[in-house]
Amino acid sequence: MQWDQAEREALRSGGAHLIDPEQLAGLHVDAALRGLRTAGQVIAVLPGRRLEKPPPPSGLLAHLESARRQDGWPGAHRHSPESLITGGTWTLGGVELPVRVPGLVRAEPPEHLHRQFATGAHLLPQRLSFTAAQTLVGCPLHWLLQHALDVRTADVAALPTGDRMIGTLVHAVVEQLVQQRWDDGVGGAPLRPPTDEEITSVFDRLVPQFASELDLPGHAAQRADVHDRTVRSLRTLFAGTARAGLRITGTEVRFSHPLTLPLAGGARTIEFVGSRDLDLRDASGRPTVIDLKWSRSRTRYGDLYETGDAVQLASYAWALDQAESLAEPAQVGYFLLHAGEFVAADRELDPRRRTPMDVRDSWERLTRSVTTALDQIAEGTAVAGRRSLLDGANLPLDAPYSKRRRALDGARAAARSEGQVAVDSYCATSEYAQLCGMTGDFR
Ligand code: SF4
Repeated sequence: MQWDQAEREALRSGGAHLIDPEQLAGLHVDAALRGLRTAGQVIAVLPGRRLEKPPPPSGLLAHLESARRQDGWPGAHRHSPESLITGGTWTLGGVELPVRVPGLVRAEPPEHLHRQFATGAHLLPQRLSFTAAQTLVGCPLHWLLQHALDVRTADVAALPTGDRMIGTLVHAVVEQLVQQRWDDGVGGAPLRPPTDEEITSVFDRLVPQFASELDLPGHAAQRADVHDRTVRSLRTLFAGTARAGLRITGTEVRFSHPLTLPLAGGARTIEFVGSRDLDLRDASGRPTVIDLKWSRSRTRYGDLYETGDAVQLASYAWALDQAESLAEPAQVGYFLLHAGEFVAADRELDPRRRTPMDVRDSWERLTRSVTTALDQIAEGTAVAGRRSLLDGANLPLDAPYSKRRRALDGARAAARSEGQVAVDSYCATSEYAQLCGMTGDFR
């Protein structure tokens, strides 16, 4: 059980003696080792991996081996699974079991990329978020399953972990820092950046809530790395926006505006909804929107910006346009939290002299692509995005990244020339990969 600071204080004031997670883990290891050292024979089964690198043996096993060596134990006998089988019999520690090797069954991926259904008019949405629109353009089949048919994994399987969890944590740190420094007198956060101590204090406060696994034993190095990176990165974020004279005037700003799509079956008005990470204003009141990304790629977002395919930024600029009828569209950019860098045309933020993105063109291309995908669904067809892309380029499902990248670049250029946009589908995190045939025992 992990307690947060307030809970720890409440428990201590009630007389509880709390030990920290490292001490607790140490006690568990000591108890387990004491028990195992008294055993005459210990059989440890180490899990293997079929497609991945096997993990190293557990720390407990390493401790046990070294403790038993001190007891004068000759050493471990390691057996591979195959070495335990003779003929049709598996033997270990005097126990025998008959074994048989089942015949190889080769499953084939589904042949048809598209899913056909009678008519899909009833599946058309009333409401679309930016994320759903991006999914719809990248993989209409994925959108159909997730948003139109509501086929979802259990909530527990969707608990964020890894980079997604850290991204959520750092977004929350930014939001909290802006809120606690908010000055109604200026309608936003002061231009003075927060100190490293302020960032650390908010980070420490939010870890138990957003990324409690960083507090688990064995995660101290990762926690320290995420902390140091967050402090460095947010220092750059706040100092950079202050230097550019941009005051943060909102975080996680929700919007909802009607959007009319010229579908083949007749114009359809939906609610387009979303939330902008950071709204900023310069001294003249001109808006800028910055989207925060915890991404390890340093080129992906620069490429999207420069090719005008950063449709997320375009949708945020469109939303501001709807709210304020701007003469000039809002300025847009990304801040890459992992690298601590801006991707923007404003040279005070990003010195790479980028040409400002044409957000209105990008938004029009996005809405055309959404319209095309919805027309297909209304006619009863949903295409599996990545599979379609690979088949179009004559590539197998397990084509190397470089070839898939080239195929996607080609698809993006083709879509651009048709006034549309191509979006990569996120198959690596898709829950539907077995349904469309992107994964499974096909190789
Ligand atoms: S795995 Fe990829 S192609 Fe298949 S449904 Fe998901 S996003 Fe679409």
